[in-house]
Amino acid sequence: MKKYVLFRFVPTMGCNYRCSYCFLPNEQKSIKDTMFDTYAPEVWVEGMSQWSDYDVEFYMWGGEPFSIPGTFDVVKGWTDYRHVVCNSRIDTNMFFADEIAKRCPTSKVKLNCSWHREYEDLHSLFGKVVTLQELEMVGMVNFVASTENIEHLREEYGMTIDDLVDMFEKIDVFLNVASDINVFESRNIFKKKQVKNLLSKYTCPEDWHYLREKMSSTSCEASKSFFTVNKEGDITTCLGEDVVGNFFEGTLEIRDKIMCAQRCQSLVAYPFRLDNDFIPRNSLMSYVERNKAYRKSLSK
Ligand code: SF4
Repeated sequence: MKKYVLFRFVPTMGCNYRCSYCFLPNEQKSIKDTMFDTYAPEVWVEGMSQWSDYDVEFYMWGGEPFSIPGTFDVVKGWTDYRHVVCNSRIDTNMFFADEIAKRCPTSKVKLNCSWHREYEDLHSLFGKVVTLQELEMVGMVNFVASTENIEHLREEYGMTIDDLVDMFEKIDVFLNVASDINVFESRNIFKKKQVKNLLSKYTCPEDWHYLREKMSSTSCEASKSFFTVNKEGDITTCLGEDVVGNFFEGTLEIRDKIMCAQRCQSLVAYPFRLDNDFIPRNSLMSYVERNKAYRKSLSK
């Protein structure tokens, strides 16, 4: 079996939206640095040819990855390689959905499609999801179930969260019901309990634990196959600063498992921990299948 590697990239922390509930301060969202400042998209595409001995998955987040033109070219170029396997994940605010469908249509990418209701109405979002679903590019639609968003859903559309789940289920799309990070960053125990009671029927207890609860330190094998690549092409481990390889040279020094006490709340990352049975490969679609099965088990 070919070795497996998951590369994490940040095309830009810049974004074309200024959502009021975003984790990122607005001053960090004006596009300054990009992944293409040193090397052009075609050089990044060529760089991926160095990794043909691996099954490669990539993960892009931000900011808004598609807010810069080079991202479309790199996604198109990378997914043309046979060794770039299915189910690479890209987080997007869906503003550029139509351009994604035109410039880099590929079933090898699964989008984490966030609905930002301050910028887009539900019907417009739904239309874009239908288009991308036809291209098998939708991993899930993400709805942040904050008090304001739930109220907006009721007042604007006369809908509950369950209605929204059903609406997307009809086109075979999983609606992820995310809790408001601000609630879980606060010290308001009562509010946290309230939110957990409301939302725990949408996310299985195992995932809820990693996404929202305190974790004990554990052994983790991320440094064997999960790496961050910076804009110089330097490869670092999940937490580490030290460089363990270079993307353009195709070099990589695999490190042994480590003990980690960090908060590990990303569903891309926590499957590498040895305190769970999750499979790191294809983590987004595994999460979707896990939670679809969980919801079904509750409806029996
Ligand atoms: S436990 Fe999580 S944060 Fe720590 S090294 Fe592993 S994947 Fe990274």
